Amino acid sequence: MITDTLDRPLRNLRVSVTDRCNLRCQYCMPEEEYVWLPRENILHFEEISALVDMFADLGVDRVRLTGGEPILRRNLPTLVRMLSAKPRIRDLAMTTNGILLADHARDLYEAGLHRVTVSLDTLRPERFRRLTRRDSHQKVLAGIEATTRAGFTGLKLDTVVMRGVNDDELSELIEYGKRVSAEVRFIEYMDVGGATLWAMDKVFSRTAMLERLARHYGPIEPVTEESSAPADRFTLPDGTVFGIISSTTAPFCRSCDRSRLTADGMWYLCLYAKEGTDLRRALRSGASRDEIKSLIVPTWQRRADRGAEERLGVRHRTPLVQIGELRRDPHLEMHTRGG
Ligand code: SAM
Repeated sequence: MITDTLDRPLRNLRVSVTDRCNLRCQYCMPEEEYVWLPRENILHFEEISALVDMFADLGVDRVRLTGGEPILRRNLPTLVRMLSAKPRIRDLAMTTNGILLADHARDLYEAGLHRVTVSLDTLRPERFRRLTRRDSHQKVLAGIEATTRAGFTGLKLDTVVMRGVNDDELSELIEYGKRVSAEVRFIEYMDVGGATLWAMDKVFSRTAMLERLARHYGPIEPVTEESSAPADRFTLPDGTVFGIISSTTAPFCRSCDRSRLTADGMWYLCLYAKEGTDLRRALRSGASRDEIKSLIVPTWQRRADRGAEERLGVRHRTPLVQIGELRRDPHLEMHTRGG
């Protein structure tokens, strides 16, 4: 196993399969139009599969498909089938906004996808429309319900909580999670690339979430567990478990074992990183498997980033990247890098 300067193993790879998305969430893609990755640069499934093999040689055993919206990538089950056939990948998951899930859940399950996380920020159709600028709320709910019918277990629902936008829905979302057998995870609003409307006063903190939920449900107990998962988990008095991902006010950089491959083969070590490693160029110039691994290994071993923790130290915190810079380098976007 290779480790970085903080002893973090290279274990968890998030693979973005497209930078395109069918929503325009305020906190991620507030513009209508974007500079998209050139089509010819998008990795073919065989290329993704070859890179995953190299990462698996180096210790990666968890892969999460993301985007953009991953189900927009044509024939995604074909890629899932290729990845799920790799015994070294013990956990193959996908994060989706759920819009296309009702039509594809069964194929994805049959292709060997293990787990699904659906992003769901609100249960109110009108609020969904304002937040995402699309009218697809009903489809998302249908997608969530289709996962169980298709055979998936261990469903998770991820909610970005924004003050004054959806912070009044925490208990409703937990109740909905119970109905659909999903664990709900509340994510603090992050100042990552793409979040050009971010402001500290819109962050609804982990402390505020716990206070709000304790007022509603009574005493909340932390679940004690050793894990590199981003969410801290808690139990309600009735035994329901939920998670909080407090990347903004209480980041977990010290245990972060994630890295990210964009749809065009750039490899990033941190959501906040400005520079990445171009694995597509290496792959397409005919570099051997060992040559590409010899790009990956020292890059990981040198890794010292603590992106979210460093942001904590910034006095007057504003969005990480301004719109002009995002247009010049779309790799800085969250929807390119995969959340
Ligand atoms: N389209 C898929 C989806 O909606 O789940 C996958 C990609 S999306 C970029 C992955 C996750 O990043 C989503 O759960 C989204 O809510 C989260 N995300 C995007 N921008 C964020 C921000 N500014 N703060 C916190 N989470 C964010």
